Amino acid sequence: MRTVRAVGGLRTALSVARLQRHTIGLVPTMGALHEGHLSLIAGAREQCDVVVVSLFVNPSQFNEGSDLDAYPRREEQDRRLAREAGADLLFAPSVEEVYPVGFATSVEVLGITDRLEGAVRGSAHFRGVTTVVTKLLNMVMPDVAYFGQKDAQQVIVIKRLVEDLNLPVTVEVCPTVREPDGLAMSSRNARLRPEERARALALFRALDAADRLSRGGERSSEAILSCARAAMRPFDVEPEYLALVDPSTLEPLERLDRRALLAIAARIGATRLIDNTILEPSSHTIAISREEARPTGVAA
Ligand code: AMP
Repeated sequence: MRTVRAVGGLRTALSVARLQRHTIGLVPTMGALHEGHLSLIAGAREQCDVVVVSLFVNPSQFNEGSDLDAYPRREEQDRRLAREAGADLLFAPSVEEVYPVGFATSVEVLGITDRLEGAVRGSAHFRGVTTVVTKLLNMVMPDVAYFGQKDAQQVIVIKRLVEDLNLPVTVEVCPTVREPDGLAMSSRNARLRPEERARALALFRALDAADRLSRGGERSSEAILSCARAAMRPFDVEPEYLALVDPSTLEPLERLDRRALLAIAARIGATRLIDNTILEPSSHTIAISREEARPTGVAA
């Protein structure tokens, strides 16, 4: 696995693969790689001829300077992990390479970026994400780009960006990888003190409680959300947001009458964590209600 830091070097390194019509997969990351990232790299390895992993802690998507400063940076370890997971090329540019003096352009997706993460972190966050993702896609020109469901809103925003700008790339979404107790893997978990690590389980427990309730047939958002909140109480964690929303528009849903995204964010000490799950009205309950709706004596 080679490491390249400049866009010119990246293009040269990929030129032969492109000439030979080899498929190129890109896994964009901010480093401090964990099993979640490695699952994306493994997915790319399975589906593409050439796998590029980008490692760039993008300053423009951090709304708090302290969060950017505290973001874990471990390039040596990341290089080893990316190589072992099957990456061919590590693209690790400097901030100056990505944002040279005079840089003045940004790419913005409107509407869906105002909700959930956007409402808390401000519009600059997703503008930073969509600008850097557009740049990475233009630099690498991959056939497929891999993103994690862990950042559900990011996936929705990037799919919108790719469709709206006719970017010639397929977006692959990989499932959230969790610790054995359910905590979603995140580079930020490394910052949790032992007592905070225990409390961080509140996010998964909230999602799990809501999931169980909805599988039992509950359809009211209010009931589902209050059950999720109750599951967090023993951990002494308050959600920053906890919302049941339409998975494409991110509009809040009053009832779970279709597929929905349950998204949560919470601060555990100085560390902000997010997680989500997809809830579906269970087929069991649909079968029962169809049965109930059928006029007596009419066969199925
Ligand atoms: P990050 O380095 O946090 O920007 O993440 C890079 C990519 O890895 C994003 O597409 C994330 O959604 C994805 N990712 C992060 N954590 C996980 C996880 N636990 N499971 C699956 N994908 C993840």
